[in-house]
Amino acid sequence: MDYSRIFEKFNEKNKGELVFQQAVKEVLDDIEPALEDHPRYVQDKIAERIVQPDRVIMFRVAWVDDKGEVRVNKGYRVQFNNAIGPYKGGLRFHPSVNLGIIKFLGFEQIFKNALTTLPMGGGKGGSDFDPKGKSDMEVMKFCHSFMRELYRHIGPDIDVPAGDIGVGAREIGYLFGYYKKIVNEHTGTLTGKGREYGGSHIRPEATGYGLVYFAREMLSTKGLDLKGKTVAISGAGNVAQFAAEKVIQLGGRVITLCDSQSTVVDKEGLDREKLEYVMDLKNKQRGRIKEYADRYKAECIMGKNTWESIKEVGIKIDIALPCATQNEIDSECAEALVKNGAICVAEGANMPSTEGAVKVYRENNILYGPGKATNAGGVAVSGLEMSQNRLGVVWAREEVDEKLYLIMKNIHDTALLAAKRYSNEGDYLAGANIAGFLKVAEAMHAQGIV
Ligand code: NDP
Repeated sequence: MDYSRIFEKFNEKNKGELVFQQAVKEVLDDIEPALEDHPRYVQDKIAERIVQPDRVIMFRVAWVDDKGEVRVNKGYRVQFNNAIGPYKGGLRFHPSVNLGIIKFLGFEQIFKNALTTLPMGGGKGGSDFDPKGKSDMEVMKFCHSFMRELYRHIGPDIDVPAGDIGVGAREIGYLFGYYKKIVNEHTGTLTGKGREYGGSHIRPEATGYGLVYFAREMLSTKGLDLKGKTVAISGAGNVAQFAAEKVIQLGGRVITLCDSQSTVVDKEGLDREKLEYVMDLKNKQRGRIKEYADRYKAECIMGKNTWESIKEVGIKIDIALPCATQNEIDSECAEALVKNGAICVAEGANMPSTEGAVKVYRENNILYGPGKATNAGGVAVSGLEMSQNRLGVVWAREEVDEKLYLIMKNIHDTALLAAKRYSNEGDYLAGANIAGFLKVAEAMHAQGIV
C-alpha cells in the first residue's frame, strides 16, 4: 500500500489549507503500522474517509454595532466525524479563522475525543469575528446572530459546541441564551455553561489542570515531578491561567505568560495573588499582559511570544507549556528550548509545534506530549457536563476533578502502550495518533461504508 499517495491526493483536494494539511500529514505518517496490522481498515479505505469531514456548514453572520453600523462576519461549523458519538468541539472567534483552520481543529478533535474514552465525535466551528475591543452588547448581538443560523445544525444528540480562543464564559452564555430561546428547550447543547445554568464544576479549569496532570505523568516515567521546576507558559487565556494555577499548586515556578502583543518574564515566579491579578486583567478588564509587567516590575518583551523571547534573551527553564495557538513554536524556538534546559514540552494549545519543532524534540529525547492527548481534559469535562445534563445531576468539584485526573492518566498510559506496540517507546505523538485512530476506525468499520 502506498500511503504517500493518500496524502498526495488529499493535498490536491485541500489546496491552500496548510494547517489542515499539516495535521493530516502528522496522523497519516504515524498510523501506517496500525493500518498494516488491520487489513480491514485498508480495505474499507478508513484513512481516505477519515480525512474528509462528514459535513461543512458555512454561513453569513450579520449584526449591528454600537454605532448602528451593519457588520458582516463568516460563520463555520465543521461536523467532521460522528462514528463514536455526537459531534463535539469548540467554537473559535478570532480574525485569523478560516475554513482550513476549522477543518484542522475538527480533525484533531476526532482523535482527542476518542482518547478520552467518552462517546464524542469530532467537530469544530467559529468565526472571523474578533471579540477584542467590542462592547458586551456587541458581543451579545454577534453571538445571537451566529446562533440564529447554527441552532438548526446542533442538538444534545447531534452536535455539542463549546469554547475555544475568543469564546469563554461570556460568549457561551449569550450563545446558550439565544439557543434556549429559539429552540425552547433547556438541554446540554452547549458545554462550558455557567454553573448556575447547567455547567460543570472544573470545566473552566479542565484543560489547564488536565495538561499539568498529563505533564506530571510524563515526568514520573523518569522519576521526576513538578516540585521546584521552572515552567514557561505561553498565552494568558483560559488554558494558560489554569495550567499556571495547577503548576503553582504542585510546587512549580511559572515565570512567563504572553499574549499576542508581548511576553512577560517574572523570574520570581507567579504566586496566587499575581495569578488572580492576571485572571481579573484578562477575564474582566480584558486588558493586555504587559500591564502585569508594569505592576510587578517584571521584564516585558514586546512583539514576541514566550518561545521567541526565550530564544532571544536565553531564559533557563525545565518545562514548556505552550497554551496560545497553532505553530507558535518553530524549529529554531524548539532548539532554543533544548539549549535553555527544557526536558519536557506538554501542549495546552492545539498543534502549537511545527513539524520541524517536533523533529527537534524527538532528536533530543524531550518528553513531548502532543495537544490531542495533553489538552483533552477540556473536552473530557465537557463530556462529563453532557452526562450531568442528561442525568439532571450536579457532581461535586472533587468528584469531577478526580474523574479528570483518571481520564488524563488513562490517556497517558494508552498513548504510551500504543507507541510501544506500533512505534518508538515513549513517542506520545505516535501513540496518541494510533490509539485515537484505532478506536474510531473500528467504529467506522462496524458501521459499514457510510
Ligand atoms: P483564550 O482566548 O482564552 O486565550 C488565548 C491566549 O493566547 C490569549 O492570551 C491570546 O492573546 C494568546 N494568543 C493567541 N494567539 C496568539 C499569538 N499568535 N501569539 C501570542 N499569543 C497568542 O483561548 P484558550 O486559552 O481557550 O485556548 C488556547 C489554546 O488552547 C488554543 O489553541 C485552543 O484551541 C486550545 N484549547 C483550548 C481548550 C479550552 O478548553 N479552552 C481545550 C483544548 C484546547 P490575545 O488575547 O492577545 O489574543
